[in-house]
Amino acid sequence: QVVTRFAPSPTGYLHIGGARTALFNWLYARGRGGRFLLRIEDTDRARSSPEATQAILDGMAWLGLDHDGAAVSQFERAARHAEVAQQMLEAGTAYKCFATQDEIQAFRDAAKAEGRSTLYASPWRDAAPETHPDLPYVIRIKAPRDGATVIQDAVQGDVTIRNDQLDDMVLLRSDGTPVYMLAVAVDDHDMCVTHVIRGDDHLNNAARQMLIYRAMGWPLPIYAHIPLIHGPDGKKLSKRHGALGTQEYRQMGYPAAGMRNYLARLGWSHGDDEFFTDAQAQEWFDLGGIGKSAARFDFKKLENICGQHMAAADDAALLHELSDFLRVTGQPALTPAQSELMLEGMYCLKERARTFPELLDKAQFILTSRPISPDEKAAAQLDTVSRGMLRELTPQLQNATWNRESLEELMTQFADARGTKFGKLAGPLRAALAGRSATPSVFDMMLVLGQAETLGRLTDAGQ
Ligand code: GLU
Repeated sequence: QVVTRFAPSPTGYLHIGGARTALFNWLYARGRGGRFLLRIEDTDRARSSPEATQAILDGMAWLGLDHDGAAVSQFERAARHAEVAQQMLEAGTAYKCFATQDEIQAFRDAAKAEGRSTLYASPWRDAAPETHPDLPYVIRIKAPRDGATVIQDAVQGDVTIRNDQLDDMVLLRSDGTPVYMLAVAVDDHDMCVTHVIRGDDHLNNAARQMLIYRAMGWPLPIYAHIPLIHGPDGKKLSKRHGALGTQEYRQMGYPAAGMRNYLARLGWSHGDDEFFTDAQAQEWFDLGGIGKSAARFDFKKLENICGQHMAAADDAALLHELSDFLRVTGQPALTPAQSELMLEGMYCLKERARTFPELLDKAQFILTSRPISPDEKAAAQLDTVSRGMLRELTPQLQNATWNRESLEELMTQFADARGTKFGKLAGPLRAALAGRSATPSVFDMMLVLGQAETLGRLTDAGQ
């Protein structure tokens, strides 16, 4: 069974690169009936915070990236990490090193002066165990000195790292706490992770983690190191790019389905497909489709894909997500009456809206109420002639059957009788119904508002 994991460090919000890593792992597992696990890498106590963990959970929940089982805290597993270091010690694949900081520094200074590798080579590596003094020590791995370690990466291909470039890294510090590299290898093994999909900034770590796997005789996971995302400016995206946390995208009003689709396309491709559903993404996603070079974040593409998702979305689901958007941006919630009208009008509101602010903008005619105060452009539409026209039209609408067909017929006849085209009436009608000139079609507004409200607004404007 496929088991993937997302292993964020809770030192800040969930940034867009992390969200994409989580998404890739989620897609890979979900498309294969596998498990997708979440591990919070909270061993750095000074930099980790519960707020950051919460922000990561919120971001994942928003994006619909559900994980299997409870989130694992890496810090809480420290005793298990230490246990593995002890096992390696007993097996002779690790050793106690009693070197002091001064000794290590002296080694480095001498190596530098002599032009040798400054990677520390501890004299304790080959010392007989019984010679160990009663002093503080660290546990170091006995890394191979010769040959090379080859990472068979599903994205990068074979990456060879010469073993003389890997030192005998510390596994357990003198205070008994495990180092990060040990924690990751032990956790991935214990959680039965089969596929490690993560940013390629971890590629070098893979070689070190593999040394631990080999020392313990554990089967290696499949590695897939994905290229980082670059910002719109072509520079590396990082946590410092404040505007690029998932929370920011949520507050900018991008629909989650569109965000998922766009993030999936960021560094992965399936032919020329740009727009797809979750089911398609899960079916299509594979490691072979991940590109080797950095993807560039492109707001235009994001908006375009979000627009397509909006148009295709279920009306009730969209209304639900809109309410969430209003809540996270601190805007007043919709009243029950507004919600009802929004649902009724969603079919036209969601057309050509790419974000929730755009959707709300189209919904202005629903959210406003009588008396409508027209903006400057709309006010100019309501001149004496137009107001006369509205006064003439209103009684005719009083007797109309309120459906699209009859309204269209009635309006066309009304325009004909006045020797004009319906298009000429649209401006004043938009102004009367919405108080602005950019709105959904006049008929859509009339149908959504209903007869009574429409007549009320036309009567107001005709005066
Ligand atoms: N905790 C690491 C990070 O936030 C990820 C480690 C991993 O995926 O192996 O970048």
